[in-house]
Amino acid sequence: MSDTAAGPLEHLLALQDLDTAVAQLERRKATLSERARLTEAEARRAALAAREAKVEEARAALAARQEDLERQIATLTARRAAVEQRLYGARGSAARDLQAMDDEVRHLTARRAELEEDELGVMVEMEPLEEELAALADERAGIDADLAARRDELVTAEAVVDEELGGVLAARAEELGSVPGDLRDRYETLRARMGGVGAARLVGNRCSGCHLELPAREVDRIRRLPEGTVATCDQCGRILVASSASDAPPRPSR
Ligand SMILES: [Zn+2]
Repeated sequence: MSDTAAGPLEHLLALQDLDTAVAQLERRKATLSERARLTEAEARRAALAAREAKVEEARAALAARQEDLERQIATLTARRAAVEQRLYGARGSAARDLQAMDDEVRHLTARRAELEEDELGVMVEMEPLEEELAALADERAGIDADLAARRDELVTAEAVVDEELGGVLAARAEELGSVPGDLRDRYETLRARMGGVGAARLVGNRCSGCHLELPAREVDRIRRLPEGTVATCDQCGRILVASSASDAPPRPSR
């Protein structure tokens, strides 16, 4: 389009094309395959964290049980030492008292052996959980590296789209100045209401906005309107432009 000769309606169509391009780029940015790949890695990371938390919870319960057993064992050991001390210092006491103390030492020893057996069982149970946690930590390190790489890929892919978007937005800002204020307001209102397309071309006898055919008489009337007169599609209400530019192949509207 030669800009010096172009009227406000040609500029409006150019503006619409740029807005369509902006929408397409924004959609491309939102649906980048790099984003899907990152989301997938994030989901794997979250699933792994949940598995780690579950195993860690089981391990922590066993560790608490082990600590409790150790405390009991320490108490028993101290008690036994005290009874033994009394026993050795009690030579010459009544045989009955000596026997009672001896029995208590025996009882404490047996009880401690039981608790030590329990503790051993807990440690045996804990071992596979610790191995699993170590394996999960390795897996997490792999996923984290993958996540970092995918984040970088997304940033790079977004930058490519953003650069293109920047160019289109700059062209749009320039084009906007060539469209009169009232036409611009009407266009923006329609565009917001009509899925991003406020201005359509008359292509043959069809509106490129709603793709419906217009009656031949209406087409004829629109084509004969004086240059710069704003027509409206009866079917969709969009601004309809019949111009030399309207002979261009229609762009996909959405
Ligand atoms: Zn229409």
